[in-house]
Amino acid sequence: MVKAGGKIAVVGAGPGGLSCAMLLASRGFDVTVFEKEGEVGGRNAPIHKGGFTFDTGPTFLMMRYILDEIFALSGRKSDDYLKFTRLEPMYRLVFHDGAEFFPTTDRAKMGSEIARAFPGEEGGLARFYSKEKKRLEMLAPCLQKDYSNFSAFVRPTFIAAIPYLFTNNSLYENLGNYFRAERLRLCFTFQAKYLGMSPWECPGVFTMIPYVEHEYGIYHVEGGLNMISKAMAKVFEEHGGKLRLGFPIKRLVLAGKAARGVELENGEKLLFDEVVINADFAHAMTHLVEPKALGRYSEANLRKKRYSCSTFMLYLGLDKKYDFTHHSIFLAEDYRANIDDISVRKRLSEDFSFYIQNASATDPTLAPKGKSTIYVLVPVPNNTSGIDWKKEADAFRNRVLDAVEARTPIKDIRKHIEAEHMITPADWESGHGVFLGATFNLAHNLTQMLYFRPHNRFEELENCYLVGGGTHPGSGLPTIYESGRITAELILKKYRLSQATGP
Ligand SMILES: Cc1cc2nc3c(=O)[nH]c(=O)nc-3n(C[C@H](O)[C@H](O)[C@H](O)COP(=O)(O)OP(=O)(O)OC[C@H]3O[C@@H](n4cnc5c(N)ncnc54)[C@H](O)[C@@H]3O)c2cc1C
Repeated sequence: MVKAGGKIAVVGAGPGGLSCAMLLASRGFDVTVFEKEGEVGGRNAPIHKGGFTFDTGPTFLMMRYILDEIFALSGRKSDDYLKFTRLEPMYRLVFHDGAEFFPTTDRAKMGSEIARAFPGEEGGLARFYSKEKKRLEMLAPCLQKDYSNFSAFVRPTFIAAIPYLFTNNSLYENLGNYFRAERLRLCFTFQAKYLGMSPWECPGVFTMIPYVEHEYGIYHVEGGLNMISKAMAKVFEEHGGKLRLGFPIKRLVLAGKAARGVELENGEKLLFDEVVINADFAHAMTHLVEPKALGRYSEANLRKKRYSCSTFMLYLGLDKKYDFTHHSIFLAEDYRANIDDISVRKRLSEDFSFYIQNASATDPTLAPKGKSTIYVLVPVPNNTSGIDWKKEADAFRNRVLDAVEARTPIKDIRKHIEAEHMITPADWESGHGVFLGATFNLAHNLTQMLYFRPHNRFEELENCYLVGGGTHPGSGLPTIYESGRITAELILKKYRLSQATGP
Protein backbone atom coordinates (compact mmCIF):
# COMPACT_ATOMS: atom_id res chain seq x y z
CA MET A 1 0.00 0.00 0.00
CA VAL A 2 1.32 3.44 -0.92
CA LYS A 3 1.67 5.60 2.19
CA ALA A 4 -0.75 8.50 2.18
CA GLY A 5 1.55 10.83 4.08
CA GLY A 6 -0.54 11.83 7.07
CA LYS A 7 0.51 10.62 10.49
CA ILE A 8 -2.61 10.24 12.56
CA ALA A 9 -3.28 9.65 16.27
CA VAL A 10 -6.65 8.30 17.39
CA VAL A 11 -7.42 8.75 21.09
CA GLY A 12 -9.62 5.83 22.11
CA ALA A 13 -10.41 2.41 20.65
CA GLY A 14 -14.19 2.52 21.00
CA PRO A 15 -16.42 1.75 17.99
CA GLY A 16 -15.98 5.33 16.70
CA GLY A 17 -12.18 5.37 16.94
CA LEU A 18 -11.81 1.91 15.46
CA SER A 19 -14.12 2.47 12.49
CA CYS A 20 -12.27 5.66 11.57
CA ALA A 21 -8.85 4.10 12.19
CA MET A 22 -9.51 1.02 10.04
CA LEU A 23 -10.74 3.16 7.15
CA LEU A 24 -7.71 5.45 7.31
CA ALA A 25 -5.20 2.62 7.73
CA SER A 26 -6.74 0.82 4.76
CA ARG A 27 -6.15 3.96 2.66
CA GLY A 28 -2.44 4.01 3.51
CA PHE A 29 -2.28 6.48 6.40
CA ASP A 30 0.16 5.89 9.24
CA VAL A 31 -2.35 5.54 12.10
CA THR A 32 -1.74 4.91 15.80
CA VAL A 33 -4.66 4.23 18.13
CA PHE A 34 -4.03 4.99 21.81
CA GLU A 35 -6.41 3.22 24.20
CA LYS A 36 -6.20 3.75 27.93
CA GLU A 37 -7.63 0.32 28.75
CA GLY A 38 -5.94 -3.04 28.19
CA GLU A 39 -8.40 -3.99 25.46
CA VAL A 40 -10.38 -2.41 22.67
CA GLY A 41 -14.07 -1.55 22.60
CA GLY A 42 -14.71 1.14 25.22
CA ARG A 43 -18.39 0.88 26.13
CA ASN A 44 -18.44 -1.96 23.59
CA ALA A 45 -15.71 -3.96 25.39
CA PRO A 46 -16.42 -7.34 26.99
CA ILE A 47 -16.56 -8.04 30.73
CA HIS A 48 -15.16 -11.46 31.63
CA LYS A 49 -15.97 -12.87 35.04
CA GLY A 50 -15.92 -16.44 36.44
CA GLY A 51 -16.14 -18.05 33.00
CA PHE A 52 -18.99 -15.76 31.86
CA THR A 53 -18.72 -13.11 29.13
CA PHE A 54 -20.90 -10.00 29.05
CA ASP A 55 -21.11 -7.08 26.67
CA THR A 56 -20.52 -3.90 28.69
CA GLY A 57 -22.90 -1.77 26.61
CA PRO A 58 -24.41 -2.36 23.15
CA THR A 59 -26.40 -5.57 22.72
CA PHE A 60 -28.63 -4.57 19.76
CA LEU A 61 -26.91 -4.35 16.40
CA MET A 62 -29.19 -2.46 14.04
CA MET A 63 -28.58 -1.45 10.40
CA ARG A 64 -25.97 -4.14 10.01
CA TYR A 65 -25.43 -2.98 6.43
CA ILE A 66 -23.58 0.12 7.70
CA LEU A 67 -21.07 -2.08 9.51
CA ASP A 68 -20.75 -4.21 6.36
CA GLU A 69 -20.08 -1.08 4.31
CA ILE A 70 -17.31 0.05 6.69
CA PHE A 71 -15.67 -3.37 6.35
CA ALA A 72 -16.08 -3.31 2.56
CA LEU A 73 -14.52 0.16 2.34
CA SER A 74 -11.61 -1.28 4.30
CA GLY A 75 -11.28 -4.10 1.78
CA ARG A 76 -12.82 -6.75 4.03
CA LYS A 77 -16.03 -8.76 4.48
CA SER A 78 -17.61 -8.61 7.91
CA ASP A 79 -18.75 -12.26 7.56
CA ASP A 80 -15.11 -13.35 7.39
CA TYR A 81 -14.57 -11.97 10.89
CA LEU A 82 -17.93 -12.21 12.66
CA LYS A 83 -20.72 -14.75 13.02
CA PHE A 84 -24.07 -12.92 12.92
CA THR A 85 -27.45 -14.21 14.11
CA ARG A 86 -30.58 -12.34 13.08
CA LEU A 87 -33.05 -12.37 15.98
CA GLU A 88 -36.71 -13.18 15.25
CA PRO A 89 -38.83 -12.11 16.99
CA MET A 90 -36.57 -9.14 17.58
CA TYR A 91 -37.47 -8.84 21.27
CA ARG A 92 -40.29 -9.22 23.75
CA LEU A 93 -42.07 -6.33 25.45
CA VAL A 94 -43.77 -7.14 28.74
CA PHE A 95 -46.33 -4.88 30.45
CA HIS A 96 -46.82 -4.76 34.22
CA ASP A 97 -49.89 -7.04 34.01
CA GLY A 98 -47.94 -9.70 32.11
CA ALA A 99 -49.31 -8.86 28.63
CA GLU A 100 -46.63 -9.49 26.01
CA PHE A 101 -45.83 -8.22 22.53
CA PHE A 102 -43.31 -9.77 20.10
CA PRO A 103 -42.17 -7.40 17.30
CA THR A 104 -40.85 -9.12 14.20
CA THR A 105 -39.53 -8.00 10.81
CA ASP A 106 -41.90 -10.44 9.08
CA ARG A 107 -44.61 -7.99 8.02
CA ALA A 108 -47.40 -10.56 7.81
CA LYS A 109 -46.54 -11.90 11.25
CA MET A 110 -46.25 -8.37 12.62
CA GLY A 111 -49.76 -7.63 11.37
CA SER A 112 -51.06 -10.78 13.06
CA GLU A 113 -49.22 -9.90 16.27
CA ILE A 114 -50.84 -6.45 16.35
CA ALA A 115 -54.25 -8.01 15.57
CA ARG A 116 -53.73 -10.47 18.46
CA ALA A 117 -52.55 -7.95 21.04
CA PHE A 118 -54.26 -4.74 19.82
CA PRO A 119 -57.27 -5.74 17.70
CA GLY A 120 -58.33 -3.05 15.24
CA GLU A 121 -54.92 -1.34 15.12
CA GLU A 122 -53.44 -3.41 12.26
CA GLY A 123 -54.32 -0.74 9.67
CA GLY A 124 -51.71 1.67 11.01
CA LEU A 125 -48.84 -0.68 10.30
CA ALA A 126 -48.82 -0.22 6.52
CA ARG A 127 -48.87 3.57 7.01
CA PHE A 128 -45.99 3.29 9.49
CA TYR A 129 -43.91 1.25 7.03
CA SER A 130 -44.54 3.48 4.03
CA LYS A 131 -44.24 6.91 5.71
CA GLU A 132 -41.19 6.04 7.76
CA LYS A 133 -39.54 4.35 4.77
CA LYS A 134 -39.86 7.64 2.92
CA ARG A 135 -38.43 9.53 5.90
CA LEU A 136 -35.42 7.22 6.03
CA GLU A 137 -34.87 7.53 2.27
CA MET A 138 -34.86 11.31 2.56
CA LEU A 139 -32.78 11.55 5.73
CA ALA A 140 -30.20 8.77 5.44
CA PRO A 141 -28.15 10.64 2.78
CA CYS A 142 -28.23 13.76 4.99
CA LEU A 143 -27.07 11.93 8.10
CA GLN A 144 -24.12 10.46 6.20
CA LYS A 145 -22.78 13.92 5.38
CA ASP A 146 -20.51 16.21 7.34
CA TYR A 147 -22.04 19.25 9.09
CA SER A 148 -18.82 21.06 9.95
CA ASN A 149 -19.97 24.02 7.84
CA PHE A 150 -23.27 25.85 8.03
CA SER A 151 -23.39 25.58 4.23
CA ALA A 152 -24.37 21.92 4.74
CA PHE A 153 -27.88 23.27 5.32
CA VAL A 154 -28.16 24.50 1.75
CA ARG A 155 -27.34 21.18 0.13
CA PRO A 156 -30.26 20.11 -2.09
CA THR A 157 -30.50 16.75 -0.27
CA PHE A 158 -30.87 18.59 3.04
CA ILE A 159 -33.45 21.06 1.77
CA ALA A 160 -35.52 18.20 0.32
CA ALA A 161 -35.38 16.41 3.70
CA ILE A 162 -36.51 19.37 5.83
CA PRO A 163 -40.21 18.38 6.01
CA TYR A 164 -39.15 14.90 7.20
CA LEU A 165 -36.68 16.23 9.75
CA PHE A 166 -38.57 19.00 11.51
CA THR A 167 -41.82 17.26 12.35
CA ASN A 168 -42.59 19.62 15.22
CA ASN A 169 -43.81 16.72 17.33
CA SER A 170 -42.28 14.13 19.62
CA LEU A 171 -41.63 10.47 18.86
CA TYR A 172 -44.67 9.53 20.97
CA GLU A 173 -46.92 12.08 19.24
CA ASN A 174 -45.72 11.08 15.79
CA LEU A 175 -46.64 7.47 16.46
CA GLY A 176 -50.18 8.73 17.03
CA ASN A 177 -50.34 9.10 13.23
CA TYR A 178 -50.26 5.32 12.98
CA PHE A 179 -51.58 3.84 16.21
CA ARG A 180 -54.22 4.90 18.74
CA ALA A 181 -53.61 2.40 21.58
CA GLU A 182 -51.20 3.88 24.09
CA ARG A 183 -49.55 0.54 24.77
CA LEU A 184 -48.94 -0.10 21.11
CA ARG A 185 -47.33 3.30 20.75
CA LEU A 186 -45.07 2.44 23.70
CA CYS A 187 -43.98 -0.69 21.82
CA PHE A 188 -42.54 1.62 19.16
CA THR A 189 -41.04 4.18 21.53
CA PHE A 190 -38.83 2.04 23.69
CA GLN A 191 -36.11 2.63 21.06
CA ALA A 192 -35.65 6.14 22.47
CA LYS A 193 -33.47 4.21 24.94
CA TYR A 194 -30.75 4.18 22.29
CA LEU A 195 -30.73 7.96 22.48
CA GLY A 196 -31.16 8.01 26.23
CA MET A 197 -34.17 10.31 25.83
CA SER A 198 -37.82 10.42 26.78
CA PRO A 199 -40.16 9.49 23.88
CA TRP A 200 -42.22 12.57 24.84
CA GLU A 201 -39.17 14.83 24.30
CA CYS A 202 -37.36 12.92 21.60
CA PRO A 203 -38.02 14.55 18.18
CA GLY A 204 -40.54 12.75 15.95
CA VAL A 205 -37.84 12.29 13.31
CA PHE A 206 -36.53 9.42 15.45
CA THR A 207 -39.55 7.31 14.49
CA MET A 208 -36.93 6.25 11.96
CA ILE A 209 -35.33 4.07 14.64
CA PRO A 210 -38.21 1.64 15.18
CA TYR A 211 -38.61 1.69 11.40
CA VAL A 212 -35.02 0.62 10.72
CA GLU A 213 -35.43 -2.17 13.27
CA HIS A 214 -38.50 -3.40 11.44
CA GLU A 215 -36.87 -2.99 8.03
CA TYR A 216 -33.38 -4.34 8.64
CA GLY A 217 -33.74 -6.42 11.81
CA ILE A 218 -31.58 -6.83 14.88
CA TYR A 219 -28.44 -8.93 15.07
CA HIS A 220 -26.45 -10.67 17.73
CA VAL A 221 -22.82 -11.60 17.11
CA GLU A 222 -21.35 -14.82 18.46
CA GLY A 223 -19.23 -14.00 21.50
CA GLY A 224 -21.16 -10.75 21.99
CA LEU A 225 -21.20 -7.42 20.16
CA ASN A 226 -17.77 -6.72 21.67
CA MET A 227 -16.44 -9.04 18.94
CA ILE A 228 -17.18 -6.28 16.42
CA SER A 229 -14.64 -3.97 18.03
CA LYS A 230 -12.13 -6.84 18.19
CA ALA A 231 -12.70 -7.54 14.47
CA MET A 232 -12.23 -3.86 13.60
CA ALA A 233 -8.98 -3.79 15.56
CA LYS A 234 -7.83 -6.87 13.64
CA VAL A 235 -8.57 -5.27 10.26
CA PHE A 236 -6.83 -2.10 11.44
CA GLU A 237 -3.67 -4.05 12.35
CA GLU A 238 -3.81 -6.06 9.12
CA HIS A 239 -3.56 -2.73 7.30
CA GLY A 240 -0.47 -1.80 9.30
CA GLY A 241 -2.24 0.26 11.98
CA LYS A 242 -0.50 0.51 15.36
CA LEU A 243 -2.64 -0.29 18.39
CA ARG A 244 -1.28 0.93 21.72
CA LEU A 245 -3.33 -0.65 24.50
CA GLY A 246 -2.90 0.54 28.09
CA PHE A 247 -1.76 3.97 26.79
CA PRO A 248 -3.87 6.71 28.39
CA ILE A 249 -3.42 10.09 26.72
CA LYS A 250 -2.89 12.79 29.32
CA ARG A 251 -3.61 15.75 27.08
CA LEU A 252 -3.42 16.97 23.52
CA VAL A 253 -0.23 18.73 22.46
CA LEU A 254 -1.32 22.13 21.15
CA ALA A 255 0.34 25.02 19.37
CA GLY A 256 -2.10 27.85 19.90
CA LYS A 257 -5.38 26.60 18.46
CA ALA A 258 -3.88 23.70 16.49
CA ALA A 259 -3.45 20.08 17.61
CA ARG A 260 0.11 18.88 17.12
CA GLY A 261 0.05 15.51 18.85
CA VAL A 262 -0.58 13.75 22.13
CA GLU A 263 1.11 13.68 25.50
CA LEU A 264 1.38 10.36 27.33
CA GLU A 265 0.96 9.93 31.09
CA ASN A 266 4.78 9.83 31.51
CA GLY A 267 5.05 13.28 29.92
CA GLU A 268 6.39 12.01 26.59
CA LYS A 269 5.08 14.07 23.68
CA LEU A 270 4.38 12.40 20.33
CA LEU A 271 3.81 14.54 17.27
CA PHE A 272 1.16 13.80 14.64
CA ASP A 273 -0.31 15.61 11.63
CA GLU A 274 -3.90 14.95 12.71
CA VAL A 275 -5.50 13.98 16.02
CA VAL A 276 -8.84 12.19 16.17
CA ILE A 277 -10.64 12.17 19.52
CA ASN A 278 -12.88 9.18 20.30
CA ALA A 279 -12.93 9.55 24.10
CA ASP A 280 -16.35 10.69 25.40
CA PHE A 281 -16.63 14.22 24.02
CA ALA A 282 -17.35 16.24 27.18
CA HIS A 283 -14.95 14.11 29.21
CA ALA A 284 -12.22 14.74 26.63
CA MET A 285 -12.85 18.49 26.62
CA THR A 286 -12.69 18.68 30.41
CA HIS A 287 -9.64 16.41 30.76
CA LEU A 288 -7.52 16.39 27.59
CA VAL A 289 -7.65 19.96 26.32
CA GLU A 290 -6.28 23.06 28.05
CA PRO A 291 -9.25 25.20 29.16
CA LYS A 292 -7.96 28.28 27.33
CA ALA A 293 -8.12 26.43 23.98
CA LEU A 294 -11.73 25.38 24.42
CA GLY A 295 -13.79 28.36 23.34
CA ARG A 296 -17.46 27.43 23.27
CA TYR A 297 -16.77 24.03 24.87
CA SER A 298 -15.56 25.34 28.22
CA GLU A 299 -16.65 23.21 31.16
CA ALA A 300 -19.21 25.83 32.15
CA ASN A 301 -20.77 25.73 28.67
CA LEU A 302 -20.64 21.96 28.51
CA ARG A 303 -22.59 21.75 31.75
CA LYS A 304 -25.35 23.86 30.16
CA LYS A 305 -25.88 21.29 27.40
CA ARG A 306 -28.43 18.49 27.59
CA TYR A 307 -27.26 14.96 28.19
CA SER A 308 -28.80 11.52 27.88
CA CYS A 309 -29.96 9.46 30.83
CA SER A 310 -27.60 7.06 32.57
CA THR A 311 -27.96 3.33 33.16
CA PHE A 312 -27.63 1.12 36.23
CA MET A 313 -26.13 -2.18 35.12
CA LEU A 314 -26.01 -5.67 36.60
CA TYR A 315 -24.10 -8.42 34.83
CA LEU A 316 -25.00 -11.76 36.36
CA GLY A 317 -23.51 -15.20 35.73
CA LEU A 318 -26.22 -17.66 36.84
CA ASP A 319 -25.74 -21.39 37.48
CA LYS A 320 -28.81 -22.34 35.44
CA LYS A 321 -29.98 -22.00 31.84
CA TYR A 322 -33.17 -20.01 31.26
CA ASP A 323 -35.40 -20.45 28.29
CA PHE A 324 -36.72 -16.99 27.42
CA THR A 325 -36.09 -14.51 24.63
CA HIS A 326 -32.65 -13.03 23.95
CA HIS A 327 -33.94 -9.45 24.48
CA SER A 328 -36.83 -8.57 26.84
CA ILE A 329 -38.06 -5.14 27.87
CA PHE A 330 -40.19 -4.88 31.00
CA LEU A 331 -42.22 -1.68 31.13
CA ALA A 332 -43.11 0.07 34.37
CA GLU A 333 -46.83 0.24 35.18
CA ASP A 334 -46.69 4.02 34.78
CA TYR A 335 -44.14 4.24 31.98
CA ARG A 336 -44.48 8.00 31.60
CA ALA A 337 -43.92 8.64 35.32
CA ASN A 338 -40.79 6.49 35.22
CA ILE A 339 -39.46 8.40 32.20
CA ASP A 340 -40.23 11.75 33.85
CA ASP A 341 -38.44 10.61 37.02
CA ILE A 342 -35.39 9.91 34.86
CA SER A 343 -35.32 13.00 32.70
CA VAL A 344 -37.28 15.67 34.58
CA ARG A 345 -37.48 14.91 38.33
CA LYS A 346 -34.05 13.19 38.31
CA ARG A 347 -34.86 10.61 40.94
CA LEU A 348 -35.10 6.84 41.18
CA SER A 349 -38.60 5.50 40.52
CA GLU A 350 -40.37 3.12 42.87
CA ASP A 351 -41.61 1.26 39.79
CA PHE A 352 -39.06 1.20 36.97
CA SER A 353 -38.72 -0.22 33.46
CA PHE A 354 -35.77 -2.48 32.73
CA TYR A 355 -34.20 -4.49 29.95
CA ILE A 356 -32.77 -8.00 30.22
CA GLN A 357 -30.53 -9.73 27.77
CA ASN A 358 -30.53 -13.53 28.13
CA ALA A 359 -27.81 -13.98 25.53
CA SER A 360 -27.13 -17.62 26.41
CA ALA A 361 -30.53 -18.42 24.89
CA THR A 362 -28.91 -17.84 21.48
CA ASP A 363 -25.18 -18.00 22.09
CA PRO A 364 -23.67 -20.90 24.08
CA THR A 365 -20.17 -19.37 23.97
CA LEU A 366 -20.98 -16.76 26.61
CA ALA A 367 -21.51 -18.99 29.66
CA PRO A 368 -20.27 -22.40 30.84
CA LYS A 369 -22.54 -25.29 29.77
CA GLY A 370 -25.94 -25.26 31.48
CA LYS A 371 -25.43 -21.69 32.80
CA SER A 372 -26.59 -18.22 31.80
CA THR A 373 -25.13 -14.81 31.11
CA ILE A 374 -27.74 -12.28 32.18
CA TYR A 375 -27.39 -8.53 31.50
CA VAL A 376 -29.79 -6.15 33.25
CA LEU A 377 -30.02 -2.47 32.26
CA VAL A 378 -32.16 0.01 34.18
CA PRO A 379 -32.41 3.53 32.70
CA VAL A 380 -31.81 6.02 35.55
CA PRO A 381 -31.04 9.76 35.79
CA ASN A 382 -27.58 10.95 34.80
CA ASN A 383 -25.33 12.46 37.46
CA THR A 384 -26.98 15.88 37.38
CA SER A 385 -29.40 14.13 39.79
CA GLY A 386 -26.99 14.38 42.72
CA ILE A 387 -27.87 10.79 43.72
CA ASP A 388 -25.15 9.42 46.00
CA TRP A 389 -24.53 6.05 44.38
CA LYS A 390 -22.11 4.96 47.10
CA LYS A 391 -25.09 5.01 49.45
CA GLU A 392 -27.81 3.89 47.02
CA ALA A 393 -26.12 1.16 44.97
CA ASP A 394 -26.69 -1.87 47.22
CA ALA A 395 -30.31 -1.05 47.98
CA PHE A 396 -31.03 -0.38 44.31
CA ARG A 397 -29.30 -3.64 43.32
CA ASN A 398 -31.66 -5.48 45.65
CA ARG A 399 -34.67 -3.73 44.17
CA VAL A 400 -33.52 -4.69 40.67
CA LEU A 401 -33.05 -8.33 41.69
CA ASP A 402 -36.54 -8.30 43.26
CA ALA A 403 -38.01 -6.88 40.04
CA VAL A 404 -36.26 -9.54 37.96
CA GLU A 405 -37.65 -12.27 40.21
CA ALA A 406 -41.13 -10.80 40.15
CA ARG A 407 -41.33 -10.30 36.38
CA THR A 408 -39.17 -13.00 34.74
CA PRO A 409 -38.84 -16.80 34.96
CA ILE A 410 -35.67 -16.31 37.04
CA LYS A 411 -36.72 -17.18 40.60
CA ASP A 412 -34.55 -17.25 43.77
CA ILE A 413 -32.03 -15.29 41.73
CA ARG A 414 -29.66 -14.62 44.63
CA LYS A 415 -29.14 -18.38 45.09
CA HIS A 416 -28.10 -18.77 41.46
CA ILE A 417 -25.55 -15.96 41.17
CA GLU A 418 -22.04 -17.30 40.50
CA ALA A 419 -20.51 -14.14 39.10
CA GLU A 420 -21.60 -10.53 39.34
CA HIS A 421 -20.51 -7.11 38.17
CA MET A 422 -22.29 -3.82 38.74
CA ILE A 423 -21.89 -0.41 37.04
CA THR A 424 -23.65 2.61 38.54
CA PRO A 425 -23.91 6.08 36.96
CA ALA A 426 -21.08 7.14 39.28
CA ASP A 427 -18.92 4.29 37.91
CA TRP A 428 -19.68 5.31 34.33
CA GLU A 429 -18.31 8.75 35.16
CA SER A 430 -15.31 7.88 37.32
CA GLY A 431 -14.27 4.48 35.91
CA HIS A 432 -15.33 4.72 32.28
CA GLY A 433 -14.72 8.44 31.63
CA VAL A 434 -18.34 9.22 30.69
CA PHE A 435 -19.22 12.86 31.42
CA LEU A 436 -22.06 13.04 33.99
CA GLY A 437 -22.45 9.26 33.55
CA ALA A 438 -24.64 10.08 30.52
CA THR A 439 -24.11 6.72 28.86
CA PHE A 440 -25.66 7.74 25.51
CA ASN A 441 -23.76 11.01 25.35
CA LEU A 442 -25.12 14.48 24.48
CA ALA A 443 -28.90 14.38 24.10
CA HIS A 444 -30.31 14.28 20.56
CA ASN A 445 -32.65 17.27 20.65
CA LEU A 446 -32.66 19.22 17.39
CA THR A 447 -30.54 22.01 18.90
CA GLN A 448 -27.77 19.47 19.54
CA MET A 449 -27.85 17.70 16.20
CA LEU A 450 -26.29 18.13 12.74
CA TYR A 451 -24.39 21.46 12.61
CA PHE A 452 -25.33 22.07 16.27
CA ARG A 453 -23.56 18.92 17.53
CA PRO A 454 -19.76 19.13 18.01
CA HIS A 455 -18.40 18.86 14.48
CA ASN A 456 -16.54 15.91 13.00
CA ARG A 457 -13.87 18.43 11.98
CA PHE A 458 -13.59 19.91 15.44
CA GLU A 459 -14.45 23.58 15.23
CA GLU A 460 -12.22 24.75 18.08
CA LEU A 461 -8.89 23.22 17.03
CA GLU A 462 -7.10 22.82 13.74
CA ASN A 463 -5.95 19.31 12.73
CA CYS A 464 -8.38 17.88 15.23
CA TYR A 465 -11.38 15.64 14.52
CA LEU A 466 -14.08 13.89 16.53
CA VAL A 467 -15.61 10.41 16.23
CA GLY A 468 -18.10 8.53 18.42
CA GLY A 469 -21.44 9.23 20.02
CA GLY A 470 -20.61 12.85 20.94
CA THR A 471 -20.30 14.09 17.37
CA HIS A 472 -22.51 13.92 14.29
CA PRO A 473 -24.63 11.85 13.55
CA GLY A 474 -24.98 10.67 17.18
CA SER A 475 -24.97 7.85 19.72
CA GLY A 476 -25.79 4.24 18.73
CA LEU A 477 -23.54 1.83 16.86
CA PRO A 478 -24.69 2.51 13.26
CA THR A 479 -24.44 6.29 13.67
CA ILE A 480 -21.10 5.94 15.45
CA TYR A 481 -19.76 3.88 12.53
CA GLU A 482 -21.06 6.65 10.26
CA SER A 483 -19.14 9.20 12.36
CA GLY A 484 -16.00 7.14 11.72
CA ARG A 485 -16.73 7.15 8.01
CA ILE A 486 -17.50 10.91 7.87
CA THR A 487 -14.36 11.83 9.82
CA ALA A 488 -12.17 9.50 7.74
CA GLU A 489 -13.65 11.09 4.62
CA LEU A 490 -12.76 14.59 5.88
CA ILE A 491 -9.16 13.56 6.49
CA LEU A 492 -8.97 11.80 3.12
CA LYS A 493 -10.22 14.97 1.43
CA LYS A 494 -7.63 17.06 3.22
CA TYR A 495 -4.99 14.82 1.65
CA ARG A 496 -6.82 14.94 -1.69
CA LEU A 497 -7.87 11.29 -1.49
CA SER A 498 -11.30 9.73 -1.56
CA GLN A 499 -12.72 6.46 -0.25
CA ALA A 500 -13.33 5.36 -3.82
CA THR A 501 -9.96 6.05 -5.43
CA GLY A 502 -6.50 5.02 -4.30
CA PRO A 503 -3.59 7.25 -3.29
C1 LIG B 1 -25.19 0.39 28.63
C2 LIG B 1 -25.17 0.78 27.17
C3 LIG B 1 -25.98 0.13 26.27
C4 LIG B 1 -25.95 0.47 24.93
N1 LIG B 1 -26.71 -0.24 24.06
C5 LIG B 1 -26.63 0.01 22.74
C6 LIG B 1 -27.26 -0.87 21.81
O1 LIG B 1 -27.90 -1.86 22.20
N2 LIG B 1 -27.14 -0.58 20.48
C7 LIG B 1 -26.41 0.49 20.03
O2 LIG B 1 -26.34 0.68 18.81
N3 LIG B 1 -25.78 1.32 20.90
C8 LIG B 1 -25.85 1.10 22.22
N4 LIG B 1 -25.14 1.89 23.11
C9 LIG B 1 -24.53 3.16 22.65
C10 LIG B 1 -23.15 3.10 21.93
O3 LIG B 1 -23.21 2.20 20.86
C11 LIG B 1 -21.97 2.71 22.80
O4 LIG B 1 -21.90 3.48 23.93
C12 LIG B 1 -20.60 2.83 22.06
O5 LIG B 1 -19.66 1.99 22.66
C13 LIG B 1 -20.04 4.24 22.09
O6 LIG B 1 -18.93 4.27 21.25
P1 LIG B 1 -17.91 5.49 21.19
O7 LIG B 1 -16.90 5.14 20.16
O8 LIG B 1 -18.64 6.75 21.06
O9 LIG B 1 -17.23 5.58 22.65
P2 LIG B 1 -16.65 4.55 23.69
O10 LIG B 1 -17.16 3.18 23.46
O11 LIG B 1 -16.87 5.13 25.03
O12 LIG B 1 -15.08 4.57 23.37
C14 LIG B 1 -14.24 5.61 23.78
C15 LIG B 1 -12.86 5.02 24.05
O13 LIG B 1 -11.94 6.06 24.40
C16 LIG B 1 -11.07 5.55 25.41
N5 LIG B 1 -10.45 6.69 26.12
C17 LIG B 1 -11.06 7.63 26.89
N6 LIG B 1 -10.15 8.51 27.37
C18 LIG B 1 -8.96 8.14 26.87
C19 LIG B 1 -7.63 8.64 27.01
N7 LIG B 1 -7.37 9.73 27.77
N8 LIG B 1 -6.61 8.00 26.38
C20 LIG B 1 -6.85 6.89 25.62
N9 LIG B 1 -8.09 6.35 25.46
C21 LIG B 1 -9.12 6.98 26.07
C22 LIG B 1 -12.02 4.76 26.29
O14 LIG B 1 -11.33 3.86 27.15
C23 LIG B 1 -12.85 4.04 25.22
O15 LIG B 1 -12.26 2.83 24.82
C24 LIG B 1 -25.12 1.53 24.46
C25 LIG B 1 -24.31 2.19 25.39
C26 LIG B 1 -24.31 1.81 26.71
C27 LIG B 1 -23.37 2.48 27.64
